[in-house]
Amino acid sequence: MYQNQCQNQDPQLTKIFQYVDKDRSGLISSSELQQCLSNGSWEPFHIDTIKLLMSMFDINKRGQLNFNEFQALWKYVNDWQAIFKTHDRDGSGSISRDELNQTLTSFGYRLSNKTYDLFMTKFDRQRKGDIYFDDFIQCLVALKMLTEEFSKLDTDRDGFVNFGYEQFINAAFSIL
Ligand code: CA
Ligand code: CA
Ligand code: CA
Repeated sequence: MYQNQCQNQDPQLTKIFQYVDKDRSGLISSSELQQCLSNGSWEPFHIDTIKLLMSMFDINKRGQLNFNEFQALWKYVNDWQAIFKTHDRDGSGSISRDELNQTLTSFGYRLSNKTYDLFMTKFDRQRKGDIYFDDFIQCLVALKMLTEEFSKLDTDRDGFVNFGYEQFINAAFSIL
């Protein structure tokens, strides 16, 4: 079974996997993942984004990624990279508030200035008015998850939910 898996592996991705797997354990740890991903500034990928990605792709919950898990993650990150590049209209390597607004609007979100203020406060970590790739992923994935949770509760689809306390706690903890 394992051999079969190896034979079917994309050779280029096998090389990437071996490069990322610094200690040659055959698995990718959080810190190995953090070292290999670049956010476009000279900072390492933010650990919160690493944790988010690990939680999404560590399917067998061993705390590390095997080849298949890594393959899925790699595709996912590359897809986000393409979205990031498309919406980084001025080619600055980061997403400004206006660019974020255009991105989210193109995904169908209708959000007020106040919400964009909040996003910039949370994700513009260097206080330069820019969001880098790691925070961009985190912002959009969190927004998508929260929106999905909300939609489950907003059964009549009017954009409002009567939240009970425990419903709120449950929804929040299912995302955290
Ligand atoms: Ca390793
Ligand atoms: Ca795993
Ligand atoms: Ca930009």
